[in-house]
Amino acid sequence: MAVISEDYQFPQIGDEQIKLLERLSNACAVSGDEGEVRKIVKSEILPHADEVKVDVLGNVLATRRGLGDHRLKVMLAAHMDEVGLMLINNQGEGIYRFETVGGISGSDLAGKSVWIGKDHIPGVIGIKPIHLAHGDNYQKPIDVDDLHIDVGPEAGKEKVGDRATFATTFMRLGPSLRGKALDNRLGVASLIELVKHAPPNIDLQAAFTVQEEISWRGARVAAYAFNPDIAIVLDSTPAYDLPAWETDENDRYNSRLGAGPAIYVADSSTLSDPRLIRFMIETAEANRIPYQLRQPGGGGTDAGAIHKQREGIPSISVSVPGRYHHSPASIARLVDWQNTLTLVAAVLSHLTPAVLTADR
Ligand SMILES: [Zn+2]
Repeated sequence: MAVISEDYQFPQIGDEQIKLLERLSNACAVSGDEGEVRKIVKSEILPHADEVKVDVLGNVLATRRGLGDHRLKVMLAAHMDEVGLMLINNQGEGIYRFETVGGISGSDLAGKSVWIGKDHIPGVIGIKPIHLAHGDNYQKPIDVDDLHIDVGPEAGKEKVGDRATFATTFMRLGPSLRGKALDNRLGVASLIELVKHAPPNIDLQAAFTVQEEISWRGARVAAYAFNPDIAIVLDSTPAYDLPAWETDENDRYNSRLGAGPAIYVADSSTLSDPRLIRFMIETAEANRIPYQLRQPGGGGTDAGAIHKQREGIPSISVSVPGRYHHSPASIARLVDWQNTLTLVAAVLSHLTPAVLTADR
């Protein structure tokens, strides 16, 4: 396994990239309404890609062609959408019933501030106050049906069908990043950097996908359109690595902050291609890039749709670990983001057709 060649400019994360992540994190893009993120993605990649198109579902599909013969077509996918809420019933006086879009627990919702619709109308998720709660009602777990969104009677521009997201603004906390939707704006920001710094030995097919949080709908058509030789999914995976880890280890599909990119072996929807797992690990080790294996099991990424497309597409996922995903705020480490970007760039810059003729 070769080490990173000196003439390829590796993507680096600095102030400019963190500012881009901030814009992406503060943008609202609940599944099916990804326009705000799509707009940022398009303006960032247009000068660098050979071709950019938006497909019927709203995926941004960009191609950056390499040089020379025998180039693999490598699809990189990062989902633009985030979990959130949808207004479903107007009860009058600015009170709305809502449903969740994607996996969110009722216990993460009560009392939280939200932004609604394209104008980011501020609202709050209301629940009966503790002063008035008593008996069993006070003890029982919070259900979405116990809650409502309150925008006040004067707002008026919101309507049934609008999406809502957590109203959390991005900030940097020393070595960490805090924001909403770091799952998966970290992947989106990484993919933008990889389009800008694509290695010349491959044809890079960048898919900024829609509707991942509701069963990978965008990735399915993106993979059909690109028909790649290999697919790598860039996402952010949950870490539950609190200080009690050593004695109270979370033994279900966990990862740890600060331990590097989390390489997927298996989740509930995909068994990663064994040749790609091996290649990714060998590349990390040859270049001394820290990495971790995400504990196999549970969860799923766009790879769940991609690997079953056409006649089968060799696929793997790699994620930046993050705490508290699908809640109002996530926390991730800058160093994990950089190492993930470095690992994927190193893998891409060494990929040749030989990886697919190797033994499994
Ligand atoms: Zn995700």
